[in-house]
Amino acid sequence: MEKGYGITTWWMTLRCGHPEWLVETEKLYRQVCLFYYNLILEEGIVDGKGGIQQMQREAERLTIRGRDKKEPVRPLPFEKVPSYFRRSAINKAIAAARSQKARQYAGRSEALEAPVTFFKGMYRELTGQSVELKVWDGEKWRWLHCRLKGKPFPEVCQLMSPSAVCEYGRWMLHVPVRQETEDARDARSRMAAGERICSLQFTNTDAFAVCCVLDGAGTLLKVKFIGGGKEYQHHCRRLEEKVKRSWGAMGYGEKGPAKGERPEGQPNKKYFLHLKHLGEYYGHKASKEIVEFCREQGVKVLVMPEYEEGYSRMVKVKAGNYSPLHLGNRIREYVEYKSWAAGMVVVKVSAAGTSGMCSECGAQVKREGEKTSGELVVCVKGHRKNRFVNTGVNLGRKCLRGFGEKKPGMKGKAAVDEAAGNEMG
Ligand SMILES: [Zn+2]
Repeated sequence: MEKGYGITTWWMTLRCGHPEWLVETEKLYRQVCLFYYNLILEEGIVDGKGGIQQMQREAERLTIRGRDKKEPVRPLPFEKVPSYFRRSAINKAIAAARSQKARQYAGRSEALEAPVTFFKGMYRELTGQSVELKVWDGEKWRWLHCRLKGKPFPEVCQLMSPSAVCEYGRWMLHVPVRQETEDARDARSRMAAGERICSLQFTNTDAFAVCCVLDGAGTLLKVKFIGGGKEYQHHCRRLEEKVKRSWGAMGYGEKGPAKGERPEGQPNKKYFLHLKHLGEYYGHKASKEIVEFCREQGVKVLVMPEYEEGYSRMVKVKAGNYSPLHLGNRIREYVEYKSWAAGMVVVKVSAAGTSGMCSECGAQVKREGEKTSGELVVCVKGHRKNRFVNTGVNLGRKCLRGFGEKKPGMKGKAAVDEAAGNEMG
C-alpha cells in the first residue's frame, strides 16, 4: 500500500528543576511577540506575493542590524535575543496579526498568550523521556534539562519544533510529530477499490456531527451521533452572560464597546479566553470521536458537505457565535488533519440537492414537527427519517456517484471534478 506523511501533536508533561526560567522565557517571548505584532500592524506589513517569509524578512530588516551595519529604523528593544527565538516570535506575531483582521477582540490578547515555540537551535536531545531547552533565566540564556512523560513517540517519525505550554500551573511540551500514514492512496483509488466511506453532517442540535457509514455501493451500514452540543452551548451561554453583565457594569451596552473602541486593560479577556478554550476542547473531543469511530468502522474516505458561501454565512449568523453549528467549522478542520494520520482522506462534496429528497425512494421530503424538534423528515410515500441521516446518506451517495461516473482519461461531469478536485492530501 502507498505511504504518505501526516502531522499530529504529542502532548507530554514536562518537569524540570527551574520552572521559573520557563516563566521568564515565556515572559520575554511574549514581549518580543507583542513588539513584532505592533510593528507589523503599525508598519503595515501585509501578506504579499512572498507570503510569510517576506513578512519575516521585512520585520527583521526594520529591527535588526544587517550586514550593511546600518542602524535599523525600529531596533528590537531587547538585548541578546537569539535569532531563532526571535524568528519564532515573529511567526507568532504574524499569525496573530492575520487573525486580528478577522476578529474584534481576541486577536490582541492572543498575541500575548502565545506559548514559546522552540525553533531549531533552541532545543536539543529531544526524546520520549527528556529534552534540553534553551531558556532565559532573567539574566542570561542557559540550557535547561527537562524530563518528559507521555505516550511514546511512533517508532518511525520526525519530531518538529516543540512548544512549552503552561496549563493550569502544569508545564506541558507539545511536539508536532510528522509520521507516515497507514494509507496514502488518493480518494479516487480508494473509491475504485470500493472502500467504505463516512458522510458527515454538522448540526445545531445536541449532535455536533452525524456520521453515516456507507459501503462502496451506497448502502447505509451504521450511524453515529457525536453529542455534546447542548453542553457546549450551555457553558458558552453562561460565559456570555458574564460578559454582558460585565459590559453593563462598565456602562456599555450589553454588546460591549462599539467596533474600534478599545476599553482599557481588556476587562473581559478571561471570559473570551475561556470561550476560546471551550471551543478548542469540544472541537478536539468531537473530532477525535469522529476519527476513532470511522477507524473502527474501517472507513477510508470521509465526505464533508460544502455549501455556497452566502448560504453558510446566513445559517451561521442565525445559529449564533457560540453554537454547535458554529463549532462545526473547527471540528471539520480538526477532522481533516487527524484523519490523514489515521489513514483516511477527506473529500468535499457540494451539498446542493442533498437535503430535499428521500434517501430511500428519491421523492421530495418535508420537515415534520418543526415546532417540536424539527429533526424528522417525511416523504410522500411515508418514509420517515432523521433529517441529518437522510441528507448524510444522500451526500455520501452523491460522492460515490461522482467518482463512479468518471472514467480514467475522460472528462467527467462537474460534480465529479468538484469531488475529486477538493480532496485532501
Ligand atoms: Zn421515500
